Amino acid sequence: MFDLIIKNADLDGKLTGIGIKDGIIKAIRPHIEEPSKDTIDAKDKIITSAFANMHTHAAMSLLKGIGQDLPLMDWLQKVIWPLESKFVSKEFVKAGTELAIAKMIREGTTFFLDMYFFEEEMASIVEQAGIRAGLGFGILDFPTKVASTPDEHIDRAKHFMHNFKDNKSIIPVICPHSPYTCSKSTLKKVINLRDEYNAYIHMHISETKKEVENLYLEHGKYPIEYLNDIGLLNERFIGAHGVHLNDEEIAIAKEKSITIVHCPDSNLKLGSGIAPIWKYVKSGVRIALGTDSEASNDNLSMMEEMSIMAKLQKGYLQDPTAMPINKAIKIATKNGFEAFNIKAGEIKEGFDADIIIINPNDITNIPIYNKKASILYSLNSSYIETTIARGKVLYHKGEFKTLDIEKIIYNTKHWQDKISNAL
Ligand SMILES: [Zn+2]
Repeated sequence: MFDLIIKNADLDGKLTGIGIKDGIIKAIRPHIEEPSKDTIDAKDKIITSAFANMHTHAAMSLLKGIGQDLPLMDWLQKVIWPLESKFVSKEFVKAGTELAIAKMIREGTTFFLDMYFFEEEMASIVEQAGIRAGLGFGILDFPTKVASTPDEHIDRAKHFMHNFKDNKSIIPVICPHSPYTCSKSTLKKVINLRDEYNAYIHMHISETKKEVENLYLEHGKYPIEYLNDIGLLNERFIGAHGVHLNDEEIAIAKEKSITIVHCPDSNLKLGSGIAPIWKYVKSGVRIALGTDSEASNDNLSMMEEMSIMAKLQKGYLQDPTAMPINKAIKIATKNGFEAFNIKAGEIKEGFDADIIIINPNDITNIPIYNKKASILYSLNSSYIETTIARGKVLYHKGEFKTLDIEKIIYNTKHWQDKISNAL
């Protein structure tokens, strides 16, 4: 007896049945005769793995698209940080996270990696929504809404690590914000905490040229070199952005098996640059994909992010063979899950059933000659019809199964009014 059967699924041109039990893909074969509690017919649809959004700040969805035409530092210091100091609270984080998770489920994302504040509040929403997340408190040297000193930040992170270390939906992650907001002594304390819990680290690195130059002026080293010398880099280190890495840093990134999370849309909008991701891939560096927050993106669509990623590399390198279809889709799906040792991101027996079904039957999408190419270049995430996470249907034909979408819309309007008055 299966929990869910997807019939008529087109896997590489062959129509097949997919049998799911206990959250796992148990059978892939032309016809599944066994009974099932639930069945979805994928005839004439496109089926693919769900996405892993590997760098975001979900609660910031309440600040969607705020602050235009500014470089990163001005955007942070003049727009985002003042708004955050005014508004960020448990209630803000809850409302923003619910909004972001609803969008992620709607747009086919079933795992996300976050860095923010009040992550306990986020955790209960992630669990209720039925997806998975890597969550962690931002650690900074200056006072924030949750702590006033580096030690207090580390204590919050430690507490969170302890409380969620055995959770099935939450992976607690340590999040030193960046090399320019954490001193060397803070980073050494981060390493002690990491070693105590064998934890993952999620950090912003080399997002802008200016920040790289400043670090070099202060420490005489480039960011990856600097972090490596401190002892921060290993296969559980996840660095967001990584726009400006030199050849030596690329070699260190490969040697230490860190994952670099490419966030092309946010990097473009903030004028931070174009990360030479294809060069990193060819050098053997592990790459995943993230949207960053909606404040700088201005959406959470992994399908759009993936399309931008592929086209940027082709255009930037003047090489249409760079970032081919299968590689781009893998970076947006399997690579993200893999960074956390989660067996998902592919529709294969033994993998977690994190799956999306797209209904492309609309005048804007036809004709379709290559389904994978259409996922990457032509469809957008509004055509996702079904999102399944660990075998559970979370969204199907306009209906959210685990979230109260009317309440989320109502709360978002309330916050929009409040924030509008402060602009
Ligand atoms: Zn970020």
